Amino acid sequence: MVEWRKICSYCHTKFIARMSKPFPIKVSDFKVSHGTCSDCHEKQLEEFRKHRNAAALYWSFDSVKEYFEGNPPYVGQELLVHDTSWNTNIYVIVTVKDPAHTRQKRIVVESYTNGYSGQSFYRSGKNCYAPKGQVKLLPYNDKIGLLAKQEPRNELKLSSKEVFDIIGEN
Ligand SMILES: [Zn+2]
Repeated sequence: MVEWRKICSYCHTKFIARMSKPFPIKVSDFKVSHGTCSDCHEKQLEEFRKHRNAAALYWSFDSVKEYFEGNPPYVGQELLVHDTSWNTNIYVIVTVKDPAHTRQKRIVVESYTNGYSGQSFYRSGKNCYAPKGQVKLLPYNDKIGLLAKQEPRNELKLSSKEVFDIIGEN
């Protein structure tokens, strides 16, 4: 365990930073005058979670599945694709081409792909070709949809904080 007195870069209070084995960084890199105290670190994590949840438009795979089961999609319906592949949020308006493809009732949309994802989604919003990937299908959101419609190809790019500022708390 190494300890080092530091000053928090955010709240400017003095604190003792501790690093235990196995050291995640070099001891010489750890022994610097400034850092982030645990209170500020916790606040940052909270902000991060809050913004990330907003970026998902407060949906999860479970709640999306529940939504589509209660509100079956229909041909021509507008939905959103949320792509987080490049550490940003891209929202694209897509339309439903086939609302219940095969027995799994996959939702086939047109027309968005980032090169590896397909146009077919499970009812949870997971992409059928890249289920662990970062392209998800979400129910339509009026605020995000309206902004996306003003963009070329109906593709809107926002940071998670910007999404939070637009849609607010859940
Ligand atoms: Zn602090």
